[in-house]
Amino acid sequence: MPRPSPGRTVGGVSAAAARPGVLWFRRDLRLHDHPALVAAAAGGPVLPLFVLDPLLWGPSGDVRRAWLVRSLEHLDASLGGRLVVRHGDPVEVVPRVAAELEAAAVHVTADAGVYGRHRDAAVEAALAAAPGAVPFVRSSTPYAVAPGTLKNGSGSPFQVFSPFQRAWLREGWPAPAPRPRTRWVESVASEGLPPAPDLGGVELPEPGERAALRRWEAFREELLPAYAGARDRPDKPGTSALSVHLKYGEVHPRTLLAGLADVPGEGAERFRSELCWRDFYADVLWNRPDSAWHPLKPEAEVPSDTGHLADERYAAWAEGRTGFPIVDAGMRQLLREGWVHNRVRMVVASFLVKDLHLPWQRGARHFLHHLRDGDPASNNQGWQWVAGTGTDAAPYFRVFNPVTQGKEHDPQGDYVRRYVPELRGVAGKAVHEPWLLPGGVPEGYPERIVDHAAERQEALARYARLRG
Ligand SMILES: Cc1cc2nc3c(=O)[nH]c(=O)nc-3n(C[C@H](O)[C@H](O)[C@H](O)COP(=O)(O)OP(=O)(O)OC[C@H]3O[C@@H](n4cnc5c(N)ncnc54)[C@H](O)[C@@H]3O)c2cc1C
Repeated sequence: MPRPSPGRTVGGVSAAAARPGVLWFRRDLRLHDHPALVAAAAGGPVLPLFVLDPLLWGPSGDVRRAWLVRSLEHLDASLGGRLVVRHGDPVEVVPRVAAELEAAAVHVTADAGVYGRHRDAAVEAALAAAPGAVPFVRSSTPYAVAPGTLKNGSGSPFQVFSPFQRAWLREGWPAPAPRPRTRWVESVASEGLPPAPDLGGVELPEPGERAALRRWEAFREELLPAYAGARDRPDKPGTSALSVHLKYGEVHPRTLLAGLADVPGEGAERFRSELCWRDFYADVLWNRPDSAWHPLKPEAEVPSDTGHLADERYAAWAEGRTGFPIVDAGMRQLLREGWVHNRVRMVVASFLVKDLHLPWQRGARHFLHHLRDGDPASNNQGWQWVAGTGTDAAPYFRVFNPVTQGKEHDPQGDYVRRYVPELRGVAGKAVHEPWLLPGGVPEGYPERIVDHAAERQEALARYARLRG
């Protein structure tokens, strides 16, 4: 066991007397505004631990694996190379590390996800059963307001966004946590990180806490004032691109909300509201863990198509060759960057569910595999919102028209041309209807795989039958 140097004071406790604590990093890969680090540092020297869990690593797509590895490399650098990485089932690994260290406690940021909650309960039980009964201490969550805490007037979870947002604004959130003086435990064996997968042509921005904070500052200075209007334009850089940093906890929403406090205007208000959507979906999933893959409102789930044609249509959608330019641009952006603009996520999701009559779960799975910000709460509840089985009040009749959506939100067609090279020769908004060009659809670009007007009628008919 490493020995603290005598006489050093850590968080007001004599380090000579204090037993070390383990800080188990998960979705909180940062050192600023980190309540679990504050709690761990107050107790004594801290061992920074990351457990590479095969149950999470296995199903992740390469984009998220690469992000995780690079983000952990940044965290390790910030820790002066002291990050201890162990591989295996956390239920075995964490108690083993705690025993090696004779740790006083294991500190975490509470996980609000379905798997994370089960895993943590099992780790907590294993630690309690170990010699010395090591406490498992949860501080904070990856959200501004902990999922499961806000309730409506009758004490039930919120079903829709607006009243949730009112309660969220009324209750508020804690100020960012100060960074504590921390004495890190040295010289504990680490199994090291796996190599980041080769992503071929996929372009990722810089991961890590420093990049996240830089991105936030740049967004706040340059884009936030116009955010309310610009956030719906996929052709321009108008949003924060912080979703992936939030997913890995490289920045906490508390830090962002504190940075918005003195910024007047619609931009800041709208951005705060988007962060609230993130909290809302985590709250929905907390209260209804089954809604990760089952409809929140089963009575609103229309029958979907199966069979060979359905599979062919799915493949055309996933590969970005439906013949609808904004849909194809979005699906190709996903494969190229591991990210898609929010407006386009809604358009492509609507197209899969309402034009191709395929189940939202199929699209959600594809998104989770390829998105760098892929998150079961925001993703799967977002899909349910589009499919009409989720938290929206009256959504079944909303069928996005890919042409009018394209013309409205990509008025000059720049977004489409960026991702669909076959259409680069088409100027202006005509790119959204290549079938109307005098020479017909440019060579190499597919014909439309469905007739949108007919499929819209079909979707409405299916909903009508369902509603009896
Ligand atoms: C079908 C579908 C799937 C989605 N899948 C994911 C996902 O896997 N992970 C994910 O983080 N977001 C998801 N979203 C929400 C949203 O599209 C992204 O958060 C957003 O595009 C990220 O870009 P940004 O950081 O520039 O957003 P900004 O516009 O800058 O928003 C700021 C932050 O607010 C949060 N936010 C914004 N919109 C939403 C929203 N609708 N729901 C929840 N949080 C939101 C995000 O954390 C985002 O980073 C999905 C939306 C849809 C319609």
